[in-house]
Amino acid sequence: MAEFDVDLFVIGGGSGGVRAARIAAGHGAKVMIAEEYRMGGTCVIRGCVPKKLLVYASHIQHEIEDAAGFGWTIPSATFDWPTLIANKDREIARLEAAYTTNVEKSGARVVKARAVFEGPNTLRLSTGETVTAKYVLIATGGAPNHGAGIPGIEHVISSNEVFHLPQLPKRIVIQGGGYIALEFACIFAGFGSDVTLIYRGDNILRGFDEDVRTHVRAEMEKNGIAILTGCTVARVDKHGSEFTTHLSNGSSIASDQVMFAIGRHPAVANLGLETTGVAINPKNGGIAVDSFSKTSVPSIYAIGDVTHRTNLTPVAIREGHAFADAVFGQRTVEVDHSNIPTAVFSQPEVGTVGLTETEARAKFSHVDIYKTSFRPMKATMSGRDTRVLMKLVVDGTTDRVVGCHIVGDGAAEMVQVLGIAVRMKATKADFDATMALHPTAAEELVTMRTVSARYVREAAE
Ligand code: NDP
Repeated sequence: MAEFDVDLFVIGGGSGGVRAARIAAGHGAKVMIAEEYRMGGTCVIRGCVPKKLLVYASHIQHEIEDAAGFGWTIPSATFDWPTLIANKDREIARLEAAYTTNVEKSGARVVKARAVFEGPNTLRLSTGETVTAKYVLIATGGAPNHGAGIPGIEHVISSNEVFHLPQLPKRIVIQGGGYIALEFACIFAGFGSDVTLIYRGDNILRGFDEDVRTHVRAEMEKNGIAILTGCTVARVDKHGSEFTTHLSNGSSIASDQVMFAIGRHPAVANLGLETTGVAINPKNGGIAVDSFSKTSVPSIYAIGDVTHRTNLTPVAIREGHAFADAVFGQRTVEVDHSNIPTAVFSQPEVGTVGLTETEARAKFSHVDIYKTSFRPMKATMSGRDTRVLMKLVVDGTTDRVVGCHIVGDGAAEMVQVLGIAVRMKATKADFDATMALHPTAAEELVTMRTVSARYVREAAE
């Protein structure tokens, strides 16, 4: 039998790869993990974590504005972008170091290098080292789509660069209608920038519940964000420090920054995959895997965004953990990709778990919708023009709550907990039997008694 240098070689030190390395090492495996950029990956270095720090910072402007209604007089506040970015960078560096330390403590060896396959069980590192491994885990994540082919694309930044801008753009144009575009549109609007969002379809957040899409768009517009739909960016010109964005509808917008957030693609290029026989999923360009994250080569697994299944950090972590338990811990668990709670950290936040109304109507013969929109208590005193949306989608035959959708402050926190109820197959009767917690916004979730809409499919359909 062939002798290998290590039992497991992990390519990519992001959330998923790190979890897999630590768990495998804990099971006694000899593990090496390679990261070419910074330990922590997209989520920690240029994704969820720094984004959330900027979201917190941008909310403070609203708090200051809202204070007057509660009797506070606050002298005119000033904001310093370089201070925020420096403090954010310090926190990210701390987390990066903690990631490295935790992996090393588990017994795995961290190498700061790019790793490229030279065969199914052999990797060449940019340090010059060659390593053989019994198993390889590909956890290289993804990268922003670039918008190739558009004249002036070299002037456009992505979510990689946006965290390191030397100064706050007074005016920014953002193309995209998904998670990243909305989150950054709201972050910059919170800091007082003039924000224009360009989206090619008829409404933002495709794939989300229709009521959520309508509601969050209206709220973002109330916050001063211009949302232009049905058009795309055709060209970007630069004049000194200013940009002109030309749109497909013939109009143009002047700004200090242009950003695209038009999706991400799996990082499969230049990995030497052709030397391994690992198959790519033709539907999405990610590495094809089975439900245990095994690729077409039995000794090679792939997890997280590089597989383009559900591109969320906690999912990658679960997949990495399950892989390590199955291969090195003799404990096989299939990761359940259904009912994953998710949030868009826009302002206001969107939190959602389970089916949209449209999905439920396609799946069930009888669907009941419970929906409420109300002014949050805080806004009555602050005078802020904002409304919360809460919506429950119920399978009318079994009474099960199959979808929960919230737009409003705290939506993400609420939906994380609602995820348990949905997963446990809670019924609307269970929601009704739960005592309200007063005064909260969340109490509306257990006090909605009147059906807003009922759909019953004809038997003949
Ligand atoms: P999304 O897939 O969420 O959105 C991409 C957007 O870009 C869509 O509105 C899409 O339009 C549009 N688009 C795609 N291609 C083009 C094009 N060629 N020209 C113009 N518009 C285009 O991707 P993001 O980049 O926002 O985020 C990537 C992923 O990262 C997310 O899907 C999510 O998995 C993850 N993420 C999660 C976050 C969270 O959990 N809070 C935060 C940030 C990212 P259309 O809808 O018409 O296809």
